[in-house]
Amino acid sequence: MRTAFITGVGGQDGSYLAEQLLDLGWSVHALTRNDQAAAAQLPMGVSSHPGDLTDHESLQGALELALPDVVFNLAGSSSVARSWEDPAETVSVNSTAVAALLEATWRLRETTGNDIRFVQASSAEIFGNATEIPQHENCIICPVSPYGASKALAHNLVQIYRNRGMFAASAILYNHESPRRPVTFVTRKITSQVARIALGRADSLLLGNLEARRDWGWAPDYVDAMYRIATYSDAQDFVIATGQSHTVADFVSSAFGAVGISDWQQYVEIDQRFVRPADANEMRGDSSKAQRLLGWKPTVAFDEMVARMVRNDIILEKRSLSTPAYQEPEV
Ligand code: GDP
Repeated sequence: MRTAFITGVGGQDGSYLAEQLLDLGWSVHALTRNDQAAAAQLPMGVSSHPGDLTDHESLQGALELALPDVVFNLAGSSSVARSWEDPAETVSVNSTAVAALLEATWRLRETTGNDIRFVQASSAEIFGNATEIPQHENCIICPVSPYGASKALAHNLVQIYRNRGMFAASAILYNHESPRRPVTFVTRKITSQVARIALGRADSLLLGNLEARRDWGWAPDYVDAMYRIATYSDAQDFVIATGQSHTVADFVSSAFGAVGISDWQQYVEIDQRFVRPADANEMRGDSSKAQRLLGWKPTVAFDEMVARMVRNDIILEKRSLSTPAYQEPEV
């Protein structure tokens, strides 16, 4: 396997995956939006194929030109929060587009005779209201958000194409973070605002549910897991998680701790705008199957991950000499 086709290359995971594959000597092709700005942001060495997830003909055309050994589907709407604002768009890019991409891959296999592999970035959110903690690959799928439902349909479609005879596998990814996370996610929202507070440029942090528990890992580890899934002997689904959960309050405490502030409560306010209609309460994954079969394991501990994100945000904040007024991101 030497040629990859990646959707979502402009996002956190897509950019790390492209970099990892290029380092390993792969040829990397990517579906990119039809504009120069998107093409300019591609990692060096990636071949760009203009197209759109919702334009199924352009998807198929891009795939035929790239002729990949592996298709990595990382594109889509990745924010649970945003899925409450536009559920139809979430289903269109997270489910319908996956059906189109699976079918296009299936047809390309038929016409070329190549055993093209398909790896889907699935999500812990498919287990939304899980009764079992930690969750494993065979837990009941019961999403609680439009995002979770859209990923659940895609997850089922991947299994259906696997049963049809295609190498189609899902990485069931728990929350994974890095300095490349957008501020629509609570982690980056916290670290960027803690950086401003540490530098005296802000004095409060507005949040929603502080008691939600998430299993947060280091994004490059999760991308490496997807590479291992793609190159494994057969197609299977794997939970990718650290196995440890922390509350949002723990994350806040760790981020303030990284800048030497221990009395963080005085800076944090609860704002109802950031409380969701429904929220998965505790997400914690059991990745023992991935550890056993893929030799995968998380490499960065929780506090270290938080500290890396805070350090990066302090550097970015110091660089922006004329700081524009901070806009609270809508969730
Ligand atoms: P998610 O797990 O994929 O939804 O990732 P997020 O980073 O968006 O949210 C993680 C958890 O943080 C969820 O349980 C949210 O309800 C909770 N949370 C609390 N306050 C906020 C906030 O201000 N923004 C976001 N995005 N999430 C928040």
